[in-house]
Amino acid sequence: MRQAWGPRWWRGSGGSSGLARVLSVCLATVSLLLLAMVPALGATATPAADGAVPVQGGGGGHAPRTVVSLTFDDGDADQMAAARVLHRYRLPATFYIITGAVGTPGYVTRSDLGQLAADGNEIGGHTVSHLRLTALTTAEARRQVCDSRSILARWGYRANSFAFPGGADSPRTEAIVRACGYTSARGVVGLRAPGCPGCALTERIPPAQPMALRTAGEVDSSWTLRDLERTVTAAEAQGGWLPLVFHHVCAGRRCGGLAVRTATLDAFARWLAQRQRLGTAVRTVGQVTGGTGARITGAGGPVAGRAVHRTPHVAPAAPHGIVNASLESVAASGAVGASLETTSASPSSTPRCWMQGGYGANTTRWQHAADRHAGRWAERLTITSYHSGDAKLLPRFDLGECSLPVRPGRSYTLGTWYQSTARVQYSVYYRTWSGRWAYWTSSPYFQASQGWAQARWATPPVPAGASGLSFGLALSSKGSLTTDSYSFAATPADLARRIADWVLLSVVAGLAIAGRLVRRRWPRVKPVDRKWLSSSSRSR
Ligand SMILES: [Zn+2]
Repeated sequence: MRQAWGPRWWRGSGGSSGLARVLSVCLATVSLLLLAMVPALGATATPAADGAVPVQGGGGGHAPRTVVSLTFDDGDADQMAAARVLHRYRLPATFYIITGAVGTPGYVTRSDLGQLAADGNEIGGHTVSHLRLTALTTAEARRQVCDSRSILARWGYRANSFAFPGGADSPRTEAIVRACGYTSARGVVGLRAPGCPGCALTERIPPAQPMALRTAGEVDSSWTLRDLERTVTAAEAQGGWLPLVFHHVCAGRRCGGLAVRTATLDAFARWLAQRQRLGTAVRTVGQVTGGTGARITGAGGPVAGRAVHRTPHVAPAAPHGIVNASLESVAASGAVGASLETTSASPSSTPRCWMQGGYGANTTRWQHAADRHAGRWAERLTITSYHSGDAKLLPRFDLGECSLPVRPGRSYTLGTWYQSTARVQYSVYYRTWSGRWAYWTSSPYFQASQGWAQARWATPPVPAGASGLSFGLALSSKGSLTTDSYSFAATPADLARRIADWVLLSVVAGLAIAGRLVRRRWPRVKPVDRKWLSSSSRSR
């Protein structure tokens, strides 16, 4: 089990040699002298040297007035560069991980998680599939939150801090997060930032609402080093807790959107590390909220909900057919783009429970089309320019609200009514136990069809370890494809095999009963008794 809770560097000196103790006393004295020299900066204390998590207030006079938490969402692969920068300045951070993304292109690997934890960072949860929790059914939201925590536990991390994808939370989702055993949940707005001049400067320690932690917006490419420093110094003027949210880390020319330049982060980390002498500490979210099990003392006492650590078992989704099979209802997909993580639910033309998938270099246009096979609507995909890859409509990659629960070893028949100007084929994906979606297989091609035609195809037996399926008719050239009236069922061949299994089982059971009857009629005897048997039978 790899459980690196809290940075060892600030716990280390506690029970060591007398020399270390003398040194720490000297350091404390020098720090106090320094503080006396800089009263204008409003610093009142040094970081605690005893290993207890320092907090505001409490009257002890040894705790920092301001705590900054550096949090990173999604587990993007480029965040490993941020981790290296922060490790250089011995600043711990909280990394909120999408468990279903771990090991997929663009995201951290299991080995990266091990490195992050070994360096004293906190591993937090950010759901399995990165869906907007407020857009999900309660059952799916519970799976997304609880499963993320139990998957991290199977990997060796006791995750107690959670962040809402897209910052989308509500009293319902906050209750779900608490019930799953997380001790805090972070949003993406609420504190003063360049985008929110009227907001509060800091969170209290402990926070008034640990399941709705506020932050100073999301750091994006428009933030300068000065913006970061100003946000911290403004927080210092009041004291309290300032969680900061980062996403991508970038270098070179391609820096845009939710990204911070490595050089900016490096300069900020160097500045922030020096701030610790002035009473501003950097701690993980778990260290502040008590989610690590570290003791929290101070004015507010222990954080409510700290004792909740177990993840309840959540039942997987029961088998079902295609949801919204005729594409009639339209809703926001619930997916949160990792590069555009916002709280605004933009209107969408995507049918509810479906997502627009694809890969490669091509330009697509999606329309909710009145030219339907059944009901009122169908979905039209047009590829206006094509170089590589494909595009397709798929049941949403989730934990079973929309994607299809399946059993390994079974075959399923996929059906789609379509009209298309080019040949198309099924692309089929399956979900592993950790919520990761993997490409599985493709069907033979179905020819272009001017009128409505049905593409039907029976999959091979579902691979071992797969628990969910998603499929789409893929267009991989310039042209248009309209789809409607989807179907999904265990294949008849599979039913026949199950009947054969039952017949075989019945034969075996029949033989067993017959055997018992035979033994009752002619009781079993030991071979050594044969001689006796033959003689005694003769005597009868
Ligand atoms: Zn996110």
